[in-house]
Amino acid sequence: MNNEAKKLQLLFASTPVAALGSGLGGGVELTLKNFAEELQRRGHQIKIVAPEGSRLQGFPVKEIEGSLQIAAQTQKRDNPIILPENSVLEQMWDYARTVQDRFDLIVNFAYDWLPFYLTPFFTRPIAHLVSMGSLTTAMDRAIAETWRVFPETLAFHSHAQAETFPEIVNPRCLGNAIAIEKYQFCEQPDNTLAWVARIAPEKALEDAVIASQKTGIPLQIFGKIDRQDYWQQIQDRYPNAPIKYQGFLTTEELQAQLGKCRALLMTPRWIEAFGNVAIEALACGVPIIAYKRGGPREIVREGQTGFLVEPDSVEGLIAAIERIDECDRHACREQAEREYSLKALGDRLEAWLYEIVEARSIT
Ligand code: UDP
Repeated sequence: MNNEAKKLQLLFASTPVAALGSGLGGGVELTLKNFAEELQRRGHQIKIVAPEGSRLQGFPVKEIEGSLQIAAQTQKRDNPIILPENSVLEQMWDYARTVQDRFDLIVNFAYDWLPFYLTPFFTRPIAHLVSMGSLTTAMDRAIAETWRVFPETLAFHSHAQAETFPEIVNPRCLGNAIAIEKYQFCEQPDNTLAWVARIAPEKALEDAVIASQKTGIPLQIFGKIDRQDYWQQIQDRYPNAPIKYQGFLTTEELQAQLGKCRALLMTPRWIEAFGNVAIEALACGVPIIAYKRGGPREIVREGQTGFLVEPDSVEGLIAAIERIDECDRHACREQAEREYSLKALGDRLEAWLYEIVEARSIT
């Protein structure tokens, strides 16, 4: 059967850590939205199953009640798998099981054990988009086992991310993309820096705050407060830093504010799987200063669209801030247009999904 021409019926299973649209799901929320819009544009049909309160304009969403899943990034390496009582994850996948015959494929956006474990028990194939690097031994094992039996069903965002899973060799890396036309190029920035992320310890906001304090360049902070205690600690510790919390903005508002900044500081302590905010900044013409690890390492063009600095070195951030005008804001926008368009991602995405459907129809 030639699947190339076939339009797919797809069920997207969202993250169970938060409602879609809340911001607490992190980059997965924008990724799911972009995947859905691009695949719909290509004629595929998408339905979404997600926790209660989830919204995505233009798509049917089956909302599921239940207790949200604990985010994997808060777990220690040797923690066991935890499913809360009345688990929304469990009920989302129970729903997926009962409706699976209406779909060609289920796309899993959850970084959780259950969907990986369930893969061989479903009659329909499950495509797994792995959205974070290795965090726990239990998840590593679930991912490795799926890789062993159904290697075609796994996709990662970056090589740096995939390399954190020791058993994964020659992974499929999709990168990521944004709807470039929704981001305005800004040629003349104000004298401010940007930091855009969930406010949580793994993102190390304090490093950007110290760099802002030492250079005297104001720092605009955008993002959901994931850990209120952590945010309070930063405010208490650096009361005189020239920082301003701008809230969690819609993409439209975010790009307008972000575009006015001289640089985006990316300071994660962990291996960022990709870092959507990096390509959002580039699309606005904003160069990136990032620690040299994880996804941003594969995005930044040294000296042209940003600087990669020694991980966890605030001095490195400061040195790069001093050189930021060497980067060309037009080159940033051009890189985003060339490498991170939804059209290019859509080709990779479709090829992956067709390959899974094809593999299943042969066996
Ligand atoms: N974001 C947003 N509004 C804000 C700040 C952030 O919509 O005010 C979004 C941003 O577009 C990105 C996500 O939050 O998609 C953060 O994702 P990223 O991949 O950078 O990190 P994650 O939270 O997944 O670790």
